Amino acid sequence: MAATDDWTLRPPYTPASDRDSFTVQLSASCHCGRVQYHLDADAPLDSKFCHCRGCQIIHVGASFQHAAIFSKASVAFTKESINNISFYSSSTRDNAYSLPCKLRCSFCGTLILDEGRNMVLLFPSLIRFDSPEARSKFQVNHHIFYGQRVVDIPDGKPKWEGLDHKSRRLDEP
Ligand SMILES: [Zn+2]
Ligand SMILES: [Zn+2]
Repeated sequence: MAATDDWTLRPPYTPASDRDSFTVQLSASCHCGRVQYHLDADAPLDSKFCHCRGCQIIHVGASFQHAAIFSKASVAFTKESINNISFYSSSTRDNAYSLPCKLRCSFCGTLILDEGRNMVLLFPSLIRFDSPEARSKFQVNHHIFYGQRVVDIPDGKPKWEGLDHKSRRLDEP
């Protein structure tokens, strides 16, 4: 089997029960429940709103995307979920599994997360938070691709025209 065919044998696709150490701290689900995953961390490495055109179009009807960054090792899909995931690569524009790619529930269409080469970028709206404190750990740190925004969000957070720390700041005065 070629290395690229082995994606089910590594995180985030291996179930929590197959990992050496994995403590479920948060859980998430698509709308229909056929795709579910657990997190063994209670806070992301980073959290941001992305206002790029790609996110606006792919997240149908959303003006921007709330992306929370986690290591792949912190994410575990449930065993049953694997067969219900379909892939989309925004760079090659096809459905073959190749990184980076976007994951969607094949049944209800919910976007689940973006898998990058080293990290996953997931959408906190899918997580079931049991308290305001748990939710507050996902507060955004900054806005990216704010130059492509369709709505202004005057929240006092840093705003980057493109990528964070690699583009001009567009903070409100
Ligand atoms: Zn679903
Ligand atoms: Zn984006």
